Amino acid sequence: MASAFTPREGIAAQYARRVRPRLSAELVFGDALPASGAARGPCPLHGGRGPNFDVDRRALSWRCYSRCSSGGDELDFLAARAGLVRPGARLEGDAYREAVRLAAGLAGVALEGVGPAAPPARLPPPARRPEPSSPPPAAAIPVQAIALWAASQPADGTPAGAYVRRRGVWPEPLPLPPRLRWLPREAVSDATALELPAPGAGAVGYAYGAAQIGAWQLEALTADGRRLGPERWRRAVGKRQGLAFRVRSPWEHEPWQDAIAVAEGELTALAAAVVLPVGEARAVGGASGLRGEAGLQAADPGEGRAVILSPDGDRAGRDAARELAARLEAAGRRVRADDWQRTDGRDLADELAEAVAAADELAREARP
Ligand SMILES: [Zn+2]
Repeated sequence: MASAFTPREGIAAQYARRVRPRLSAELVFGDALPASGAARGPCPLHGGRGPNFDVDRRALSWRCYSRCSSGGDELDFLAARAGLVRPGARLEGDAYREAVRLAAGLAGVALEGVGPAAPPARLPPPARRPEPSSPPPAAAIPVQAIALWAASQPADGTPAGAYVRRRGVWPEPLPLPPRLRWLPREAVSDATALELPAPGAGAVGYAYGAAQIGAWQLEALTADGRRLGPERWRRAVGKRQGLAFRVRSPWEHEPWQDAIAVAEGELTALAAAVVLPVGEARAVGGASGLRGEAGLQAADPGEGRAVILSPDGDRAGRDAARELAARLEAAGRRVRADDWQRTDGRDLADELAEAVAAADELAREARP
């Protein structure tokens, strides 16, 4: 009975050997982990607010003592969170395969022979009406976003890396941030059914999400790492919010150490991560992303940290940043704008690129 493996057993064996050991409670449960010190937190599966969701961090098991009234292991959680099964339902067939793929994506493991099949149909929303007092259920983890992560490669040495280096926003000695990824054309098409235009060799992708990859901003590039011609191909997958890039200032006594920078767009956030003394730089989608609740959310990793705003040099950006600054200051946060005076439609990425080019020029002139 040597070769009695069914495909299902093959997946299970691969999962146990290659994926499960690389998972952590942070990866699996992400923002749904009860706060440190708290025994239980709100249940993300039914959108609860009370402390009814229990996680065993070592076993990666969970239980909801409220409406779900069920529990399970990490795959049960991922499947329920992605809307593939109801909480507590038996996990089998396509939903099982998809849950394994989600977990593999989180672990950064490519499974053999568990290629991107069409994801199973998502469940229709529950017929039951929510309790009047509950907020809408937490957003499911977008299956596509995690599939893209599994299919992507680190940007260094790829056209994505060449593109960012050429734009001058991430100077050569610094390794590229891990959330900047290269997605070959086949991977984008297979994983997400997003069709890249024919000449495109792939896409540069910026992955968003705190403990889990929840969203992407993609832009098509040619094989030599240039943007496609006038008809730029850009797509967003999932809901972009927060945590794009993380660096630390080498200056220990920097008063803005650990601040969070909020910039308009991914390249500007990359530049912010290089030149500003910040712990994190986040990208929002243009000036409109700085406004209202979205801006507050981007500026708030939940620890009341100082905020550096880096709006683009146009009226919309400046106005939105001023409005956000006032709201943050009213909430007791320390706020600085890195340049209220920036004009001419320029952003921090332009300024950094110029500074890098000028430094290169000086270095060339200094050579004998
Ligand atoms: Zn629940």
